[in-house]
Amino acid sequence: MAGRVAGKAALVSGAATGIGQSIAMCLAAEGASVAVADIDAGRGADVVTAIREAGGKALFLSLDVTEEASWEAAIAATESEFGRLDILVNNAGIAIVESVDKMSFDDWRAVMAVNIDGVFLGTKHAVPAMRRAGGGSIVNISSILGLTGEEKLSAYCASKGAVRLFTKAVALECGRDGSGIRVNSIHPGYIHTAMTEETCRRDYGDIATGFAELGKLHPIGRVGEPEEIAAGVLYLASDESKFVTGSELAIDGGYTAA
Ligand code: NAD
Repeated sequence: MAGRVAGKAALVSGAATGIGQSIAMCLAAEGASVAVADIDAGRGADVVTAIREAGGKALFLSLDVTEEASWEAAIAATESEFGRLDILVNNAGIAIVESVDKMSFDDWRAVMAVNIDGVFLGTKHAVPAMRRAGGGSIVNISSILGLTGEEKLSAYCASKGAVRLFTKAVALECGRDGSGIRVNSIHPGYIHTAMTEETCRRDYGDIATGFAELGKLHPIGRVGEPEEIAAGVLYLASDESKFVTGSELAIDGGYTAA
């Protein structure tokens, strides 16, 4: 299959739904073989079926990003099935909304475990595989809330800010060691997914009002679509961005421009 990432093998975490699903489908449509990795096997299998029906190549991998052994198995399975790993998209993420004085330590740790421990573990185990492949691209999905703060989201903001600087530190290591591995972060604004629907219900009473109100926070006047994040991932995953590493790409309708 021809395409902008033809011949490459990718693993996308949290790919069973939302932004991750869109990323997996986009990379597959552009010629990559894609490991759809998630804790949700049912929805993950549906994504694999959709990719195959569209003529792409995919497999489902059961992955809990907080477990090191789970990452080791997922990366080994990707290499064994596709022969290589060229692209890792660390997309899985969760948010817990609570004021700092009421947040339990368990909830704080749960957010950190998925959002930053998961990115560390995925990167740690992808780098040797990408060295074996002769290079690669790691794309970490941070957030506008890795660049600016938001009330009742202190754990989420702290974890996403950590993703931003973790990305830059590893980009320096991988740039200077001659491995040919590039590492970049993407910072989405509010995007039309289940995660944001939850925010809409909680903060605005219903989904339609919520999306309309959240849209007003973005100078472009609306929330984003998962495909608009996938388009940025595709660029960073492809050789078109071969001089790009350690960068932070805001895809946020201008949210962080002010
Ligand atoms: P979502 O809740 O719709 O989907 C998240 C996916 O991650 C689900 O399939 C879930 O099963 C999976 N997941 C959760 N915990 C996991 C774990 N431990 N191991 C493996 N998979 C796990 O979320 P989304 O809105 O698509 O968000 C995707 C990423 O984009 C997240 O990192 C999120 O923080 C980030 N983001 C989202 C928005 C937004 O507005 N939706 C904005 C900025 C950043």
